[in-house]
Amino acid sequence: MNLTKKILSHRYIYNEKDIDTNNTRYDLLKKINDLLKKEGRKERACCPICEGLEACIVSERDRYGLPITLMVCTQCGLIYSKEYFSENFLLDYYKSVYNQFKTGKTDNQLFLERTKLNSPSDQRYKYIKKILGKKFNDLKIIMEPGCNDGCNLSPFLNDGKSVYGCDFDEKKTKIGIEHGINILTGGIEKLIDTKKKADLIILSNVLAHVTDLKKFMAGVKKLLNTDGYIFIETPGFRGWWDHIRVLRQYRKNFLDFIQFEFCYIFDLSLLITLLNSYNLKLYHGDESIRSIFKIDENKSGHLNKSFNNSNKITKSNADYLLSMEKKFLKFISFKKKFSKILKRNKP
Ligand SMILES: [Zn+2]
Repeated sequence: MNLTKKILSHRYIYNEKDIDTNNTRYDLLKKINDLLKKEGRKERACCPICEGLEACIVSERDRYGLPITLMVCTQCGLIYSKEYFSENFLLDYYKSVYNQFKTGKTDNQLFLERTKLNSPSDQRYKYIKKILGKKFNDLKIIMEPGCNDGCNLSPFLNDGKSVYGCDFDEKKTKIGIEHGINILTGGIEKLIDTKKKADLIILSNVLAHVTDLKKFMAGVKKLLNTDGYIFIETPGFRGWWDHIRVLRQYRKNFLDFIQFEFCYIFDLSLLITLLNSYNLKLYHGDESIRSIFKIDENKSGHLNKSFNNSNKITKSNADYLLSMEKKFLKFISFKKKFSKILKRNKP
């Protein structure tokens, strides 16, 4: 591959010593850092979507200081990681380390938390119901590949829908099954084997982590009923804001957005273009990214093999990230000066 370097700022350079020592899970971070260095990651030979051979490296680390080479494809604008995980590493990682990393609670506690009123799962359900309106009543079968403990499927089950999920983590699927959700252990092919078709497929924070995006999307398409919908939620870098509302314009801390588990980062236009290549069109969506797609009847039949990002926003994604970082650094230096003045004026 032809790689150029345009690291966003000094903050994005990897240095083992920068791993966040104050993090309560420092030992775990060190463990992951060693795992990542040793083995388990392969390197991409081209852009996983458009197969472009040119890319620009924008970051060498994630929010915790863990190594990840994030690059922007010069051709289509996709932000993707140079490294990707081998299937074995992924299985081990998600089973053993990932869940420790994210929380210290028991699996059942987590399920109950994740399915209570106004939890993210409940909000996803309400969003889909609101956007589909009357059409929601026509949904009979709901599926979710990579469903974890099935928390996203739970509100649909309670609404009288048939639900099917799959996940590799047996410990998690067991909890969902105990709560009455049909969950198969394994990948998307397990759902395909059921020979059932879904009226709604939920892809909640899955797309960013799938190793083989094309294979996965082809599987999703196989599962979908001709008049079905796909709900996609994935971190969108153009919708990433600071939680302090008044500072949002200045505080888009992209570094805080990066997780080493990311394989790809989308904005809405890229996601639309990717899904268009599977003859799926946008039904509703925003930049954060929460979206619903459905089959484009005008195009069904033949698959569009070429990937041409016609929705691309004029400013390239690398330039967009750079300008975002410049604003952020300005904000930080202003904050430093301001606190110095405050200290000086203290009686
Ligand atoms: Zn590309």
